[in-house]
Amino acid sequence: MRVVITGGAGFLGSHLSRYFLSKGHKVTAIDNLITGSVENIKDLFGNENFAFQKYDVTNYIHVPGKVDAILHFASPASPVDYLKFPIPTLKVGALGTHKALGFAKEKKAVFMIASTSEVYGDPLINPQNEKYWGNVNPVGPRGVYDEAKRFAEAMTMAYHRYHKMPVRIIRIFNTYGPNMRINDGRAVPNFMTQALKNKPITVYGDGSQTRSLCYVSDLVRGIYKLLYSGLNEPVNIGNPHEITLLELAQTVKKITKSSSKIIFKPLPQDDPKVRRPDITLAKTKLKWTPEVSLEEGLKKTVEYFRKAVSKN
Ligand code: UDP
Repeated sequence: MRVVITGGAGFLGSHLSRYFLSKGHKVTAIDNLITGSVENIKDLFGNENFAFQKYDVTNYIHVPGKVDAILHFASPASPVDYLKFPIPTLKVGALGTHKALGFAKEKKAVFMIASTSEVYGDPLINPQNEKYWGNVNPVGPRGVYDEAKRFAEAMTMAYHRYHKMPVRIIRIFNTYGPNMRINDGRAVPNFMTQALKNKPITVYGDGSQTRSLCYVSDLVRGIYKLLYSGLNEPVNIGNPHEITLLELAQTVKKITKSSSKIIFKPLPQDDPKVRRPDITLAKTKLKWTPEVSLEEGLKKTVEYFRKAVSKN
C-alpha cells in the first residue's frame, strides 16, 4: 500500500510512518511543522519508501501516483498548543479535513480521520462509549479543537454517505510515549520534564480529575487494525485504566526517582473531570486490546525524555 499521513512529523504521525514502513508499505508524510518536528522523522529520510512534504494541508493536496489510504492526523493536539494556535486548529480540522477527503475521493483511497475523546467534552457519563453525543462548550477555550474535530467527523460521514467512500473515524484517548514535545504542555511531558529536573510537579486543580493513558505502540496497532477493518463508524481507541492526575504525578515521581515536590495550580477552564474509553467495540470488532501497562509505558518513555531534557 501507499499511505499518505498528514501530520506525519508529529508525535502520532511519526510513529505511524515508522509502523507502516515496518509493515512494508510506502509512506508520504505531510506536515507544516507548526507543532511537528523533522527531528521525529529524520531517521526515515534515507528510506526509499519514505517521502516528506513540508506543506499546509488546509490548501489543495497533491501527491502524484497511486494512493491507497490517507490518514488525516494533522492538528495541534495539546490544549496549550490549540490555545496558542486557535485558528490553525479550526482550519486544519475543518478545511484540512475537507481537502484530505477530496484527495481521498480523487485517489479512491480509504480515508481515516484522527478524532478525539474531546468530542465527548466534559462528559456526563463515564466511561464514554461511541453512542454518547458529548458535553462540549463550543465557545470555551477548548471549543476550537473539540468543534473542529466534531465538524471533521460530520464531514467524514457526509463523504461516506454521499460519495459512498470507505472511511475510518478513530476517537483517540490520551496517548503518551517517545516523540512528544517536551514543552507541549500536556501532563506526561510536563510531569516527566519537571521530575527529571527535580523541579516542582505542577498538578492542576486538586488532581482528582481522571484520565486513562494509552502507550503509543498500543494505539498504533489499533489504528492499523481499524484501517483494515470495514468499520465506517467511530471507534474509541485508548487504554481504559483510569487514574487521577495526582496518581499520575506520584507515579512519574516514583519511576524517575525524583525529589520533586508536587504542587497545585489552578485548573484550566472546561478541563474534563473524568475520561475513560469504553473499548467494547474495538475489543469485539477489531480484536484489539491495549497490552502495555502504565508503569511499563512510562518506564519506556522516561528514556526519551531524559535525552530530550539533556539536549534542552
Ligand atoms: N495537567 C496537570 N498538570 C500539568 C499539565 C496538565 O495537572 O502540568 C492536567 C490537566 O489539567 C488535565 C490533565 O492533566 O486535567 C490532562 O491534561 P493534558 O494537557 O495532558 O490533556 P487533556 O487530557 O486535558 O486533553
